[in-house]
Amino acid sequence: MNSSASHRWKPSKLFELACLTLAFPAVYFAGAAYSFISRDRGHNASASSVKLPLIAPSKSGDRVLVIAPHCDDEVLACAGLIQRTIRTGGTVATIVVTNGDGYPSAVARQQRVVHAQPTDFVHFAELRQTESEKALHSLGVTDSNVWFLGYPDGGMLTLWSKHWNHNLPYRSRFTMANHSPYSRTYSPSSNYCGADAAADIAQAIRVFKPTLIVAAHPAEDHTDHATVGALAELAWQMVETDPTCKSWISSTSIRHYVVHRGDWPMPQGLHRHLPLSPPAAMSNLDTDWSQLQLTSSEESAKQRAIALYQSQTAVMPAFMDAFVRTNELYGEIPTRVLPAVADSETRANGTLKSWQKIVPVMMDPARDNVIRDLQGGADILALSAATSGSRLHLLLHTRRPVHAGVTARIHVRCFDAHWRSSDVEYVCLVKPRGQSGGAQLEKSVTWHDLGQTSHPFAIALWANTEVAGVEVDRTEIRTIPLHGVLKP
Ligand SMILES: [Zn+2]
Repeated sequence: MNSSASHRWKPSKLFELACLTLAFPAVYFAGAAYSFISRDRGHNASASSVKLPLIAPSKSGDRVLVIAPHCDDEVLACAGLIQRTIRTGGTVATIVVTNGDGYPSAVARQQRVVHAQPTDFVHFAELRQTESEKALHSLGVTDSNVWFLGYPDGGMLTLWSKHWNHNLPYRSRFTMANHSPYSRTYSPSSNYCGADAAADIAQAIRVFKPTLIVAAHPAEDHTDHATVGALAELAWQMVETDPTCKSWISSTSIRHYVVHRGDWPMPQGLHRHLPLSPPAAMSNLDTDWSQLQLTSSEESAKQRAIALYQSQTAVMPAFMDAFVRTNELYGEIPTRVLPAVADSETRANGTLKSWQKIVPVMMDPARDNVIRDLQGGADILALSAATSGSRLHLLLHTRRPVHAGVTARIHVRCFDAHWRSSDVEYVCLVKPRGQSGGAQLEKSVTWHDLGQTSHPFAIALWANTEVAGVEVDRTEIRTIPLHGVLKP
């Protein structure tokens, strides 16, 4: 035995323990991930047998306005509806809110550069605009009815939360611009802010006078999609209260489609014989889903139109093809009201004695990704709200009691009768009451706290949770009209 043998490395008990300690979370996480994916796939498979009602048949004179977050969403989600509307004598217009150019690796490859510069993103955006125009043209939409708003890809939720007004524009981290740098822009005088985005969409609604608006669902995972869905709802409500639009807006409805939610739609790839069903996580919330069944020739035209988005089919062909199915899905979100409760219903700290009679403003799916599955205290189930005159009461429901590591926030944006709002939305930190913690987090604020000198005309609410600075859950943004509930 040579002398070094006695120093030969042997795992000590401490080292074994350290390895086990490190390995256990990895094994646990892998097991939890496997169990989550199996369960999610199972839910999606069982959802595929759900029979959905059919949307109202298209008729001559229909005017459908499709609102897309990026160039390609309009065709992935709505190519069948677009064709059907035009074939039955209707008209289709499309708003594309961002040009989907915030994709550095795709831009670098397309522009043949190592590091994409701001002008490369602008050139890539122009390519994507051309793809949208060609694809929509192939489905019968005239070029003059395709409008590009030019808002910043990847920036829409920040516009909503922190850059609402024209004097506080957001700067795109890709193009470095604070207003549209693209030559084709619907309203070149608009800045990158929430108010201008809502106003542009509202203006397009006023000009086009749609009978049906279809937009992304506010509960999509992708923040641009979710925010564009919320902006579309807001813009629709803005036009609804515009006296000059009274003669026609009451017969306009709004529906929502889904493009991004978990790994939906599964299976990926081309499966023309299969129907789409709503993502399992979104199928049991408060959206009423219906479907449009496509003919074989409509499916073929949709497949050909999708193939025209070559910059996208080059990087995610299976995802794009997965939207060529026997149907398309459209969901209707019920309009929520803010319940008014008597002052006697509130305790000294301003919270409600009982929330049991109050229908939540929105539901949020439980255990809908691996992290939420593991972090039950940060997994949001619902957000409730009520008012007792001068106060707004809020309640966030989580799946398990919240522990000290969870940060939970409810975001509130108030609008006055002219649809004006603050630059930055109001953020309420919500904490469990008492020392034992809880799965119901309450907060009560006055309208004055929210920066309102009088009662707001409408409010928009959403909530999110974080653990160790990482977002675990985020609800959709929901706008609630208050006219009639609160009297100044
Ligand atoms: Zn998109």
